[in-house]
Amino acid sequence: MAGGASVAASVAFLFRRPRPTAGAFVDRSSIVGHRIRDGEPFSRTAERDRIPVVIVGGGIAGLSAAWRMRRLGFDEFVLLELEEAVGGNSRSGSNEISAYPWGAHYVPVPDRRIPLVEELFSELGVLKDGRWDSDHLSRDPLIRLFVDGEWTPGIEPGPSSSQAAHDQFDRFWEHIEYYRQGGEFSIPIRSPRATAGLDSISMKTWMVEQGFFHDRLRWYVDYACRDDYGCSYEQASAWAGIHYFAARPESDEGYLTWPEGNGWIVNRMKEKLDPWVRTGAPVRQIRNLDKRLEVVTGRITYECDAVVFAAPTFLAPYLIPDLAQELPHLGSFGYSPWYTANLFIDEPPRERAAPPSWENVIYDSAGLGYVIATHQVVDAPAAPTVWTYYRALTQRNPRIERQALLDLPWSARKEEVLSDLEQAHPNIRDCVARVDIMRLGHGMIRPRPGFLTSTVRQRLADWQGPVQFANSDLSGISIFEEAQYRGVRAAERVLDRLGYRELEHAPA
Ligand SMILES: Cc1cc2nc3c(=O)[nH]c(=O)nc-3n(C[C@H](O)[C@H](O)[C@H](O)COP(=O)(O)OP(=O)(O)OC[C@H]3O[C@@H](n4cnc5c(N)ncnc54)[C@H](O)[C@@H]3O)c2cc1C
Repeated sequence: MAGGASVAASVAFLFRRPRPTAGAFVDRSSIVGHRIRDGEPFSRTAERDRIPVVIVGGGIAGLSAAWRMRRLGFDEFVLLELEEAVGGNSRSGSNEISAYPWGAHYVPVPDRRIPLVEELFSELGVLKDGRWDSDHLSRDPLIRLFVDGEWTPGIEPGPSSSQAAHDQFDRFWEHIEYYRQGGEFSIPIRSPRATAGLDSISMKTWMVEQGFFHDRLRWYVDYACRDDYGCSYEQASAWAGIHYFAARPESDEGYLTWPEGNGWIVNRMKEKLDPWVRTGAPVRQIRNLDKRLEVVTGRITYECDAVVFAAPTFLAPYLIPDLAQELPHLGSFGYSPWYTANLFIDEPPRERAAPPSWENVIYDSAGLGYVIATHQVVDAPAAPTVWTYYRALTQRNPRIERQALLDLPWSARKEEVLSDLEQAHPNIRDCVARVDIMRLGHGMIRPRPGFLTSTVRQRLADWQGPVQFANSDLSGISIFEEAQYRGVRAAERVLDRLGYRELEHAPA
């Protein structure tokens, strides 16, 4: 009897309809961006405004430029952002379950040598009396890896791994320690000197040259490059690959993170800078007038003395036609296409061994795994929750991957996400109510061999003139600290140019 019932249940399971999953693409900026790139005519209104400084782009770099200006007591500027919300790659969303990131989700606890980061986090109450507030530190368990059919704690080989794996990892860390001690790998980055040769080869070539052959180590280094640079270890320079590991101190204090990821920082900065921020304001053109600049949006045309250009640098030739002749060829600025997906989980998915962690990575997968938005909440249940899934498109030429990002329907991308996660959670399809997807065609700069040491990058970073470039892509490495540094530096240069000398800190 009982056997008959269980056969009937199994048959019903096999023939039942899969649970439908709702969802959509949630990005829109590529439409406006492509119109600008294609030089499509746009309507101009007669409304004009005169303001000394315009900041173009409200990602971390643009917000940091605004933050710095306010700290220095300067308020005659406006920040223009194409999207309806600021944040760029550090944007976030929320639903009735939780806030969640759409891109950047953490900042490693900074080494005390990054005073700007400390200054901002002190102002935001994350650093109090020299101590990191535990509410903002990532909670344990931090990371797990799905390998050999089950979840295991950590991402490096555990006690049951082979001696060969341990030996290769130990030797790899010795090399990293050597470069760390050398002091050339820093945040913010400095142009390499003694280690410049590492920028001429790929990270994979360096691994081969050093005799690092173990599958697990190679996978780990490739994963790190895909995770931080959106490109494989074959596509990233050895300098960038080593920077990922050697630029931070060995005593890792953990990560600063929030349910909405770095969107938390964006939202706090936005609160402080609100009067100066205009969203839904795509800049269509920046033109040189006699002694001034004209920044054209669909609604208002701003006349200004200087511009902080914090939008991605590859847009400069399209947006600043007068500068197009002077600008060096920007062909070496290559960007990694990405997508992120937010999965609304309403049932705890099946899984084996190590418990859910903040980051959850699947070995040898094309995806980068997922973070759990409610992990920061004490005693949060496994469901309902939101998982943010990350995927850098590294397999084909970025141009082909970008086209595929536009062409493939949502249902195909959703399938890609679910079939990847199915490896570790066999019943994932029964547990997901909704999958929303954000496509990021030019997600982040690729530190390809030669880019960090290129004169083009250096020239734009040191550009003289009323337009100062500020996007994190100028660092060759797209992380919070670089975006903040670039924004602050551009703000200081612009104020210097305007002869603004009030360098007393003012409350922002
Ligand atoms: C998927 C993903 C995950 C990431 N995860 C992390 C992480 O965990 N930690 C970390 O430190 N970093 C992470 N990063 C890197 C992230 O790029 C940086 O941390 C930082 O957010 C970059 O800021 P930015 O201001 O330099 O550039 P962007 O974020 O690209 O900002 C540029 C802004 O300019 C705007 N813009 C463009 N054109 C115009 C126009 N014509 N007019 C007006 N505005 C315009 C854009 O809409 C955008 O808001 C991640 C990046 C991606 C893509």
